[in-house]
Amino acid sequence: MFDTFDHYLSYGAADQQTARELTGDYDGLLVPGTVAAFQKDGTKGFVLTLSASPASPPRYVIDPRFPLFHQALSRPKKSHISLAEVLGDPGLVSGFEFDPEEFETGRLQNIATHWVQFNLGYTELNSKHFDKYAQRLGEAVVSEDATLPEAILPPYLMASSTDDPRWTISSELWRLTQEELAARSAQVPAFRVVAAETAPALEGLLASAPESRVVIWVDSLDELQVDLAGRARLVAYGRAIRAASQSGKKMFALYGGYFAVLLGSVGLNGCSHGIGFGENRAYVELPNSGPPPARYYLPAVHKYISQDLAQYLYLYAPALLDCTCRECADLGPGDLDYHSLMKHSVHARANEVRAASGKSAATLADELADSARFIARTLSSVGFPKNLDRQVQTLYSHLDPWAACLREIAD
Ligand SMILES: [Zn+2]
Repeated sequence: MFDTFDHYLSYGAADQQTARELTGDYDGLLVPGTVAAFQKDGTKGFVLTLSASPASPPRYVIDPRFPLFHQALSRPKKSHISLAEVLGDPGLVSGFEFDPEEFETGRLQNIATHWVQFNLGYTELNSKHFDKYAQRLGEAVVSEDATLPEAILPPYLMASSTDDPRWTISSELWRLTQEELAARSAQVPAFRVVAAETAPALEGLLASAPESRVVIWVDSLDELQVDLAGRARLVAYGRAIRAASQSGKKMFALYGGYFAVLLGSVGLNGCSHGIGFGENRAYVELPNSGPPPARYYLPAVHKYISQDLAQYLYLYAPALLDCTCRECADLGPGDLDYHSLMKHSVHARANEVRAASGKSAATLADELADSARFIARTLSSVGFPKNLDRQVQTLYSHLDPWAACLREIAD
């Protein structure tokens, strides 16, 4: 997770085919605890057969994120109930208001113990299930080669500051998780998760976490929101990372898009991204989280755009669509199916990570400003139909602000 720059994919149940076909294009999988708990055998079968694969098997880690630690859910989803059961604490889904008094050491100990057990038992799967997923993988894999998660992430809460009782509980869960691992003489490392409610809170939290490797996350950090407040958030986020890196910390971000890749230049060591949809992660989950809408990742602007606009640019501004991936070889973006769109986006991110590797923040900022100018020139001679007008107006308006933020962070 900390080999600059580690590129992980956030795994959702619909992404199995993509994740299988793209091994080698990403370094690891981030599996949400809710998915691992609810679609237990399917997720396990998929992850374990992949981990047993002889050709560049991705690493994997399970993210115990649990919204009920943070807010009362009036209607918890089945996946929340499953995760609460995995954590040995069904009471977590009773729709309570968060009360730190209810989380005494005994209760936290129970949660930590169950979570460690779940992780260390992750390679246990009956052979029928293993064989079913091995067949889908199409490689000769044996269950003996399946590996445990590369590390255990302790259950965590997001905190607004070090005075927040949730920070105390989070620290306690971290301590108990390490104790539990030591008691079992487990050879799997554990990495603390530092989850901040706001970007400005991150720096203080990182400063009071003495560990040299931490996994970080900021609630609802939207990289594409570049109004005044949004830019201030990005700068606070980047500065927190830079300061912690200068004090010797290595950091992996649980969620991030291209701006996180840029932050590799100031000390971020890796991040995980979703496939085919938004790059931020909020704790408030939509009640009907069906598959995200199909969209095309446009590397020139480092964000997803509608297939309609991508197809129009492909026809009338081809200089902005120079993807060299297999999916884009024969087809325009309008003709790519859902699966191809996902594969294209992973290729694109892998290329971005390679391209940004080793460059200074100043160089990357210059590149962003150069692309903004190039795009403006290219588009100036293209007429757009009414229905695409609004999308075009915001197509690349984040590039200059990103450049300014990056310069400010590195300053
Ligand atoms: Zn492509």
